[in-house]
Amino acid sequence: MRLQKYLAQCGVASRRKCEAYILEGRITINGQVVTELGTQVKVGDLVTCDNRLVSDEQKYVYYLLNKPMGYVTTVQDEKGRPTVMDIMAEVKERIFPVGRLDYNTSGLLVMTNDGELTYALTHPKHEVDKTYKVRVLGAVSEKNIERLQIGVMIDGKVTAPAKVKVLNRSKECTEMTLTIHEGRNRQVRKMCECIGHPVSKLTRIAIGEITLDKLPRGKYRPLTLDEIAYLR
Ligand code: URA
Repeated sequence: MRLQKYLAQCGVASRRKCEAYILEGRITINGQVVTELGTQVKVGDLVTCDNRLVSDEQKYVYYLLNKPMGYVTTVQDEKGRPTVMDIMAEVKERIFPVGRLDYNTSGLLVMTNDGELTYALTHPKHEVDKTYKVRVLGAVSEKNIERLQIGVMIDGKVTAPAKVKVLNRSKECTEMTLTIHEGRNRQVRKMCECIGHPVSKLTRIAIGEITLDKLPRGKYRPLTLDEIAYLR
């Protein structure tokens, strides 16, 4: 099996992060540092990450977190800001976030030690819907709603079709839900900026069929077996 896939399956991190770890020289096989992506791991090989033995006998855990604003979605932050790991410090397993929410975005975040799930949920080819509740400044016209639905140009590439539902509209602000399946960097904020309506509040409320339901902000709960089966 390719090394990055093996590491992800063992719960080290997402496949993409594991590739970075390999390139950074943090992985050894049988005592030798390996920096080549795609190196094969054979049965009986001893693999370490940061000098810790990597084992495929690990139990997977899955949590749903309602992330508050003011937390970064990384395991560590070089600027010393609070991270989602601080909220989940009681979880013993080495979990990590699936995908990313901005520092000032709140809402649904899946936390797990199952690196393959990250691949399934965040790779564009799987097209998993992510739904956001967005509040933007100003009254968004129907024409601009249509532009969001059809696709707008961000970072030199048109966004895939989105579903938009207006919940409230006044002169000051518009509230809507926006469903997208791509996961480009700051995508919702950039889409709204593109139509001239900056985001003032952003919350992810669903990933596919999984919703926040009544989970309070700042709290987490284990995913149910049905939810895990749905995501994997
Ligand atoms: N889109 C954004 O702009 N920010 C997020 O946090 C998530 C989606």
